Amino acid sequence: MSDIAATTESPSRSPLADEVARRRTFAIISHPDAGKTTLTEKLLLFGGAINLAGQVKAKGERRNTRSDWMKIERERGISVVTSVMTFEFQDLVFNLLDTPGHEDFSEDTYRTLTAVDSAVMVIDAAKGIEARTRKLFEVCRLRDIPIITFINKMDRESRDTFELLDEIEKTLALDTTPMTWPVGRGRDFLGTYDVVNGGVRLLEGGGAKTGATEQIDIADLAGRNANLDVAEIKDELALVSEACKPFELEAFREGHLTPVYFGSALRNFGVGDLLEGLGKFAPAPRAQDSNLRKVEAAEPRMSAFVFKIQANMDPNHRDRIAFARLCSGKLSRGMKAKLVRTGKNMSLSSPQFFFAQDRSVADEAFAGDVVGIPNHGTLRIGDTLTEGEDITFVGVPSFAPEIVRRVRLTDAMKAKKLKEALQQMSEEGVVQVFRPRDGAPALVGVVGPLQLDVLKARLDAEYSLPVEFEVSEFQLARWVSSDDRKKLDAFIAANGSGIADDVDGDPVFMAKNEFYLGYTRERAEGINFSNVKDVK
Ligand code: GDP
Repeated sequence: MSDIAATTESPSRSPLADEVARRRTFAIISHPDAGKTTLTEKLLLFGGAINLAGQVKAKGERRNTRSDWMKIERERGISVVTSVMTFEFQDLVFNLLDTPGHEDFSEDTYRTLTAVDSAVMVIDAAKGIEARTRKLFEVCRLRDIPIITFINKMDRESRDTFELLDEIEKTLALDTTPMTWPVGRGRDFLGTYDVVNGGVRLLEGGGAKTGATEQIDIADLAGRNANLDVAEIKDELALVSEACKPFELEAFREGHLTPVYFGSALRNFGVGDLLEGLGKFAPAPRAQDSNLRKVEAAEPRMSAFVFKIQANMDPNHRDRIAFARLCSGKLSRGMKAKLVRTGKNMSLSSPQFFFAQDRSVADEAFAGDVVGIPNHGTLRIGDTLTEGEDITFVGVPSFAPEIVRRVRLTDAMKAKKLKEALQQMSEEGVVQVFRPRDGAPALVGVVGPLQLDVLKARLDAEYSLPVEFEVSEFQLARWVSSDDRKKLDAFIAANGSGIADDVDGDPVFMAKNEFYLGYTRERAEGINFSNVKDVK
């Protein structure tokens, strides 16, 4: 009997499988000002926001200048609060991982996307796809992460709806299926039509907390707005059902199709539909690739990987928090885990659990959840923790930097110390370090300028190393590889001063600009240039 129960799709397989099945771990990708913070607040309102909706407001402060941010971080110590937000809705557990966006945009933003199973793409209805959204989308695509689209700010003047969908399809090569459709736009935005079930949800009278409103029939729209013609609306909706692709779960799960919802985060409209869609369509924790095998989420033994490390900016508290995504099993307070890179066991005596009304109450987390593990530099980005098995998760990559700077030491006597410090900082994922093979001073690479501020502050506070950053002749970095060792060696020899070693000693080609990169690439037959590298 129990064998049968274990092999069928019964909703009561095992307590662990049930816990895993109700997790939805996701992130929001968007361009600054599209409405990510507003939407986050509204999402948290829906569920019992376990990890304090109020904390999101702290973002207002973060907005100020970068130096302010540093001060705030110092005052607060480690701010883990907004890194993971967990809430429950309709018996599902949603883990929303924060993707720092404004001045605090950094490699962490990219790496966080390696720890989610799906993403919500927020688009400003007046602006369409913007640069940052596109970049983050590309990172999602590396792992075929399914995307749910929320077109926000429908209460303002917006672009034509068909045109917006067309832009998503063309610029992202992603099919779209509108799940709702706006009725009227801008000042005349009345609400949305439910494409799947019919019926119109009106903007006005949205419940203050949940935004839930009754649906009405299209015919009942008559007389609600003098600028809208019900017959025309009906025609448009007929066109929508005819012209738009039907929703296909499989295509969505494979990352080829996005369901699209329209709304206004500010007016708390459309957020409920989005959340329901996320619960219904977004996958529960997916199987994760390791170097040896695929690891299923409902396997009983715990495994996890570290995707982010946050250091305390307070020089008196040099501890760090490593954020680990659980890939399988259950993590309990006090359990021992093997750090596969070193082969040593570590005791998880005080992990931070985010799924708890009161943090002290929770003492376990399940596959799909994120835990914060305090440590003193033992854990690195990309590290795998297991209950003994020697596997390493793949897919926490490094991304080619967008800003490259030369590190200038004010005290030349400390060169050796700087080398050690930079090695440590790059292992922690603060910045990437590139060491030119010609012996020139080290280069650091980042995707967001705040990373440089953090590096400078930490070198000063932790190593007493005051440094300056100088613009270097190089702006771009690409990892180079080849199936033919000789070709790679020849390329490296021919490009002497443009080759640097990364933290693992892998060769990187440094280029002055895109033109020079293209020029070199065209002539380097058999050499692969990559802007992404998997962490080993
Ligand atoms: P983020 O930078 O993506 O986190 O964006 P925010 O959530 O901070 O929003 C940026 C600005 O847009 C703020 O002034 C919000 O009040 C405003 N905003 C967000 N959502 C909406 C919306 O649905 N309608 C309107 N009119 N404004 C919005």
